[in-house]
Amino acid sequence: MFELDIEMLKEQGLQLVDTAKKTAQDLADKGKNQLDLMNQQARLSRAQRQLGALVYSLHKAGEENQPLVDKYIEAVAEVEKAIEEIKTNMSPEEYMAAEAEAAAEDAAAEDEEEIEEEPVQLRGETKICPVCKAEVDGDALFCNHCGAQL
Ligand SMILES: [Zn+2]
Repeated sequence: MFELDIEMLKEQGLQLVDTAKKTAQDLADKGKNQLDLMNQQARLSRAQRQLGALVYSLHKAGEENQPLVDKYIEAVAEVEKAIEEIKTNMSPEEYMAAEAEAAAEDAAAEDEEEIEEEPVQLRGETKICPVCKAEVDGDALFCNHCGAQL
């Protein structure tokens, strides 16, 4: 004798739906953390590059602009804090996956550099400071002239 247990099937069906929903949500969260991390890491390397370029150009010109340097240091520290927060929110598996992805990207970037034969561009994209209208580096976080946040 075979009896179809409708209630049990329904329950299992619901469980399947729940599991699917949960997995999709997990994946979405995972993707978001990794995306946030990648965005923040890109911001961090941009800010660090800008800070380095600023300190170097100030040094070369024999000038000082500690307030502007401080702004960059503060911005770098903020991004570092945001990265730590994202990492704290990640599960160890997510963290490992993100690290592996970053390592793979670094390797890919290195490969690209080796292939590249074009001379390195000294001037990248620039933008105009909305406050003092000075031309500044496209990646600059603050105006080199007036210190306004860009
Ligand atoms: Zn300005």
